[in-house]
Amino acid sequence: MTAGLDASKLEITKAENLKPMLPNDQLVFGKTFTDHMLEIEWTKDQGWGTPKISPYHNLSLDPSAVVFHYAFELFEGMKAFRDAEGKIRLFRPDMNMIRMNKSAARITLPTFDDEELIKLIEKFVLVDERFVPKGEGYSLYLRPTLIGTTASLGVSAPDRALLYVIASPVGPYYATGFKPVSLEASENLVRAWPGGVGDKKLGANYAPCIKPQLEAAARGHQQNLWLFGEEGYVTEVGTMNAFFVFEADGKKELVTAPLDGTILEGVTRDSILELCRERLPSSEWTISERPFTIKEVKENADAGKLVEAFGAGTAAIVSPIGNISWKGNEIKVPVGSEGTGELTKTVLDWIMGIQYGKETFKNWSRV
Ligand code: PMP
Repeated sequence: MTAGLDASKLEITKAENLKPMLPNDQLVFGKTFTDHMLEIEWTKDQGWGTPKISPYHNLSLDPSAVVFHYAFELFEGMKAFRDAEGKIRLFRPDMNMIRMNKSAARITLPTFDDEELIKLIEKFVLVDERFVPKGEGYSLYLRPTLIGTTASLGVSAPDRALLYVIASPVGPYYATGFKPVSLEASENLVRAWPGGVGDKKLGANYAPCIKPQLEAAARGHQQNLWLFGEEGYVTEVGTMNAFFVFEADGKKELVTAPLDGTILEGVTRDSILELCRERLPSSEWTISERPFTIKEVKENADAGKLVEAFGAGTAAIVSPIGNISWKGNEIKVPVGSEGTGELTKTVLDWIMGIQYGKETFKNWSRV
């Protein structure tokens, strides 16, 4: 029998030299890290080893390690928030663990007990507690990562792996108010396809996404819009899930692509769908997970029936869309005087309210 992941075995070595703290207004996403990191080694023979929290350090890996050659790598993105009473809260960490295990299983990296990793992450956050910033919009971004470390050029299931977690304090996405983004629909490049791995959080899915993003930027857009197939199914906005609001039959329809393997199973996406289903009156709203095309978006825009649109993800929660460039068309999305549609602002308030413990919704915020 090999050992399962066991949080009770945690060993902690505290850093002697503590890092200087940056003031909140100088925090840049993912640029500075806390004093410590969490690591757990895994081997095929022994299973999960002793979890260790130790001073933040470089990794030492054999140049032949499979992570460098065959992209045996996956990660998660989640946040810890400090509420008004100073307590620290994780937002739906169980969802990140489920997704992380699905990613691991897909690329033959070891899976683990979700609850044990959450407990370890909680201990890690408490050790680096001083880095969880105060103030709404601020948080500690957590990056659980799993890599195959087998030193071999053979292409096969890794027999060694390292799970580690690092953390970076981050500031609000909209420090100076909402900024609706202009998107360019990528024409010939595809992010994900049925039967592929676009629904897993593999590092290998991200490197190929920079080029279309740069091309969109060169033409004055902030992000690219991912379409799929000849029909032009709308899948994702950069690295966010995509939501559109249409007017239909006297009601409004909130629509997002279904979990058909071509989109990441976003925690924010799931949260928005659940909150909207519960809180928006069904006499006025239809909440749809269904395929929809860029043509449908344009037809609705032309008919004055495109109400608003936004991207959704952990980093910004929501990001209002103001314009979509597609095959020479500029599809204008209404953004109102505040730079955002009404529902976009509403779901942002709902989710932040839960994240910062101002309200309780199910067990979504874990103290
Ligand atoms: N799609 C992609 C491709 C992503 O990388 C992410 C996360 N950054 C999302 C959607 C949003 O997922 P989540 O809400 O879990 O952050």
